[in-house]
Amino acid sequence: MCGIFGITDNKDASKLTYVGLFTLQHRGQESAGIVTDDGGTLRHNIGMGLVSEVFTKDALESLKGRSAIGHIRYSTTGSSHLKNAQPLVLDSVLGQVAVAHNGNLTNADALKEKLQKGGAIFQSTSDTEVILHLMAKHRGRKLEDTLAKNLPKLEGAYAFLFMAPGIVIGARDPNGYRPLVLGKIGKSFILASETCAIDVAGGTAIRELAPGEMVVIQGGKARFRRFSPVKDFTRCIFEQVYFARPDSSVAGRTVQTARYEIGALLAKELKNVKADIVSGVPDSGTVYALGYSKESGIPYQTVFMRNHYTGRSFIQPDQRLREFTAHLKLAPIRDVIQGKTIILIDDSLVRGTTSRKIVKSLMKAGAKKIIMAIASPAIISPCYYGIDTPNKGELIACRMSTEKIRRFIGADKLHYLSLGSLVSACGGRRDRNFCVSCFTGKYPGKGGL
Ligand code: SF4
Repeated sequence: MCGIFGITDNKDASKLTYVGLFTLQHRGQESAGIVTDDGGTLRHNIGMGLVSEVFTKDALESLKGRSAIGHIRYSTTGSSHLKNAQPLVLDSVLGQVAVAHNGNLTNADALKEKLQKGGAIFQSTSDTEVILHLMAKHRGRKLEDTLAKNLPKLEGAYAFLFMAPGIVIGARDPNGYRPLVLGKIGKSFILASETCAIDVAGGTAIRELAPGEMVVIQGGKARFRRFSPVKDFTRCIFEQVYFARPDSSVAGRTVQTARYEIGALLAKELKNVKADIVSGVPDSGTVYALGYSKESGIPYQTVFMRNHYTGRSFIQPDQRLREFTAHLKLAPIRDVIQGKTIILIDDSLVRGTTSRKIVKSLMKAGAKKIIMAIASPAIISPCYYGIDTPNKGELIACRMSTEKIRRFIGADKLHYLSLGSLVSACGGRRDRNFCVSCFTGKYPGKGGL
């Protein structure tokens, strides 16, 4: 999971890219980078940490140029290290080219081995570098032709932003796993992982790129070009469940609306369950709980105070840090909890360790009973498309029945949302509009099989 943002033909290109990346910060917190096109020379500033830590006012001012692309990283492939931070910039036979990537290439290792046998020297351990070497080896007349030749060789998930002097190109993989939206602000075009970044930068979203489509922005104009035949549109459903910001729009509806609807459908699935209050694990659980409350008539109450300054536990790569921050960030509100039967909603249940801590802390604060409702089905299989779900051995639903998991987390009842309800709340049809592989173990396309 990463965030990408790009803008063309704008005097404030680096500053607006900063704003865009700052808005997308929830998608990754390890590193941040911006590359600008300063009249034919690519300038870059890339560092480890949050967007606000990497870029000072001076750093932004030194990034001159009217077009920019930027990236925030959460590593799923390649170690957490500056040499893997993006955008990657390569000086090669193609001239200067920069690339920012969100996703995971499932055939990167095989391609890398082949390229290395042919003499390619890799500078990073990130899968993204593979596309730059492919491009240097198999060139077309123009950058977009080079991409049209090479992108079909990649398998897996990608939303890419490429930049070379005078041109910015966005491309989305033939399944559309990872999001990429085109927007506009005045005469400038914007490309971003989520519509919220376009909104906050003052622009308007035009449309998502279609799977297997690229948009070429050059000379103040944007052209669409297909580089791969249409496959099933299988965008990652976890964007709505967890990753995307509630004010972003995915598949034609805002994430907030989808989450509210998910909560209402959970209430329908649990219609015979009695409780005093319904609540959510902050932050994403709150909207689910509000939807549940409206549908069921059970009052909503906030049971946890969240400390917002600890980062998101799920997206910190180090297990030791993950457990520490999970413990630190949620404080139970005793008066609301004491003596109550609580329906508690969380977005997903991955390892079970966080849910166990949460249930324990509510019981310690005096709760009578905890009914744990999960706003997604059981995760039974890993993600090969760029989301950091653990391997099968660590996925609790892979090892235990729902009843065993209930006992492990210490809840009085455990319920997962059905897949049909999830897909319908997100506005799609099962196995048609969304990737749901981590719930089914069936993977569209070749990657991950
Ligand atoms: S496997 Fe799951 S997390 Fe990965 S892309 Fe598919 S739905 Fe998203």
